[in-house]
Amino acid sequence: EAYLSAIDTANEKLNAYVAVTHDKARAMAKASDDKIARGEAGALEGIPLGIKDLFATQDVHTQAASHILDGFRPKYESTVTANLWADGAVMLGKLNMDEFAMGSSNETSYYGPVINPWRAEGSNADLVPGGSSGGSAAAVAAFLCAGATATDTGGSIRQPAAFTGTVGIKPTYGRCSRWGTVAFASSLDQAGPIARDVRDAAILLKSMASVDDRDTTSVDLPVPDYEAALGQSVKGMKIGIPREYRLDGMPEEIEALWQQGIDWMRDAGAEIVDISLPHTKYALPAYYIVAPAEASSNLARYDGVRYGLRVPGKDIADMYEQTRAAGFGREVKRRIMIGTYVLSAGYYDAYYLKAQKVRTLIKRDFEQVFDQGVDAILTPATPSAAFGVADQEMASDPVKMYLNDIFTVTVNMAGLPGIAVPAGLDAKGLPLGLQLIGKPFEEETLFRTAHVIE
Ligand code: GLN
Repeated sequence: EAYLSAIDTANEKLNAYVAVTHDKARAMAKASDDKIARGEAGALEGIPLGIKDLFATQDVHTQAASHILDGFRPKYESTVTANLWADGAVMLGKLNMDEFAMGSSNETSYYGPVINPWRAEGSNADLVPGGSSGGSAAAVAAFLCAGATATDTGGSIRQPAAFTGTVGIKPTYGRCSRWGTVAFASSLDQAGPIARDVRDAAILLKSMASVDDRDTTSVDLPVPDYEAALGQSVKGMKIGIPREYRLDGMPEEIEALWQQGIDWMRDAGAEIVDISLPHTKYALPAYYIVAPAEASSNLARYDGVRYGLRVPGKDIADMYEQTRAAGFGREVKRRIMIGTYVLSAGYYDAYYLKAQKVRTLIKRDFEQVFDQGVDAILTPATPSAAFGVADQEMASDPVKMYLNDIFTVTVNMAGLPGIAVPAGLDAKGLPLGLQLIGKPFEEETLFRTAHVIE
């Protein structure tokens, strides 16, 4: 009830929820009370969570924040949310996001922007919460849920976590099932939690992760007790500092934050080593070929027949065109056009195939560093703190917006786990985050190291 009334008070301003499931929340909470009374409490019994609108929730609003999915109420539940409910969690509602998870500011949503609950000192200007999981991050930061599900294709868990002073982990590709999660770029998409601290993130990920027959890319490995990793010493661990992440013109406060993180790790007994990830500079351009290519294919299914919106036309081809023209927003259309172009005969080799080769090189960079004994890599999470809503520079130049993902996309390209953890405030009092990158399926190392920083 406390969370529901907090949502009813704050959501009009923050726009973090696109649907609040009051009745369902109360029924689930009642069931949890009964289970607790019977001594049958699950690991998350009665914990109220928000769910990103990308996850299919049975008979509940599931629209990926898009007009084209108007009225879509799936008849099935995503594996990730089913896992959470099985452990006793309570659903408060569905969280706003960038349309189809395409964006870095939560401004591409059909439902309008999410507002970051943080304010710069001495200013009342609205800031973005980051994206695409902006609703998840804002809701957690503003106490409108105890934790949230999110997804990360190129930074969408970690960048919003950094912009809102919350913790977000993108686990290794394959750790969580993608079944029932609306697909953006299938070879990059991963679900993970956004939470108020590292411990909550560890508890939530434990519940979300599972192998699943319905997602052949989910991996059959035991899910460790991540919480047990907290408080374990990092003494003797090797933490890599990649020189290619030291960008020209990087704001001094990001530089200082990074140095602070290095000092904290060293003080805790870790060994700091300089490393090189030479193909880093190609990650962003390669990502913005691979992700739109996969998106253009995945989004072909929205044809006005199978799901959601239908705009009548004079014949079936016209109906497809009218529906897609009206149903998709500008950024989604841009991705579909880029994706279709790079996959088309004649350009496939020059763009798509090349980007896939670059992806292999990026992956090898990381493998080599881990082979040299590095346990985790420490970088800034984002090149800046949260920026203003309707920022003129970003709005006029999509590439500027894409630069937000500069430190996060490499991790998706290589399929690795990455965590963003709040590490300090900028000169205006806004949160900044650091990122730790780990070896495949070694999320425990990330919880352990991030716990030292938080
Ligand atoms: N901002 C990136 C994009 O727009 C990443 C999105 C994501 O991780 N879902 O593609």
